[in-house]
Amino acid sequence: MLRLDQIHPLVQGNKWFKLKRNLEAAGGLPVVTFGGPWSNHLHATAAACKLQGAPVTGIVRGEAPPEPSQTLTDAAALGMRIVHVSREAYDKAKKGKIPEELRTVTDGAYIIPEGGGNAEGAAGCEEILDLGDFTPFTHILCATGTGTTLAGLVNGAGKRGIQAQFLGISALKGAISVEDEVRGLLEEDRGNWGILHDYHEGGFAKISPALIAEMNDFYAQTGTPTDRVYTGKLVLAFRKMAGEDRFPAGSNILLIHTGGLQGNASLPPETLHF
Ligand SMILES: *Cc1c(COP(=O)(O)O)cnc(C)c1O
Repeated sequence: MLRLDQIHPLVQGNKWFKLKRNLEAAGGLPVVTFGGPWSNHLHATAAACKLQGAPVTGIVRGEAPPEPSQTLTDAAALGMRIVHVSREAYDKAKKGKIPEELRTVTDGAYIIPEGGGNAEGAAGCEEILDLGDFTPFTHILCATGTGTTLAGLVNGAGKRGIQAQFLGISALKGAISVEDEVRGLLEEDRGNWGILHDYHEGGFAKISPALIAEMNDFYAQTGTPTDRVYTGKLVLAFRKMAGEDRFPAGSNILLIHTGGLQGNASLPPETLHF
């Protein structure tokens, strides 16, 4: 397992790589981005912008609840201005049709899409493959939301002569458009990738007893914490597939831990034994 959760205490996992080129492109402009109340992306963007001294606003979907989430509390403490908007306004803004009410926030700002899902995000993720020698692996697995990380890995593999098959474990239920998103970010489609849609455990940010049991068991066996939204499902998928002999004998399999551990604060205490 490649522990990207350990690269930085706050800008964890794949988010570091997805933000890198975006913040370079922002060139010191104020940054505006989007996310939900438990978004790893918002949390990481707040931390990265603090490190860079860039002013940053997070637009959050839905009216402000009486108790803000731990994620938004942390993001605000890191200096992110939080702006809650209606779901309708959020969904429009996310697609690039900024509603009038948000213009004062977005005018003159560098906009990073929800989840950091753009070409700069994918380009930054290619650099994950500079962290070591990845040529021995036959399979490289990662958790997938927007597909940006997977696309970056596949692009990076092409340039580095890495022959592995890349598999994204979708954290969402029935998100078949993710394949199109990935294709849209690929420089060349060599058919060496795929997305598995059977391990969402009920849908995005949903948790099943099986998922929690898996996360606790994996921690007990390996000492490696996973997160409830993405990497827990990655481990669950990998162990199920291995148990079903879905990888040929002699396979050399790498799991990429994309971080996201801050989101576990959304679980009731005592749920996770790590
Ligand atoms: C954001 C995130 C992902 C999803 O990455 P994409 O590039 O959107 O596919 C995966 N794992 C974790 C822990 C994340 O926070």
